[in-house]
Amino acid sequence: MATPARRISKTRKRLRRTHFKLHSQGLVECSNCGAMIKSHHVCPQCGFYNGKKIVDVKAK
Ligand SMILES: [Zn+2]
Repeated sequence: MATPARRISKTRKRLRRTHFKLHSQGLVECSNCGAMIKSHHVCPQCGFYNGKKIVDVKAK
């Protein structure tokens, strides 16, 4: 494996790592009600999936 020509400074290392962050994955906006839902899952707010009503959800 190649060896780095010079040591990366603390600042450069930390600047690079500012881009390492966790972010929520697989959340999309429901096409019917606009709530944030898991993609490829029936919307728990309105019961829609793929533009059709699949399950009845109790109104709040
Ligand atoms: Zn919905």
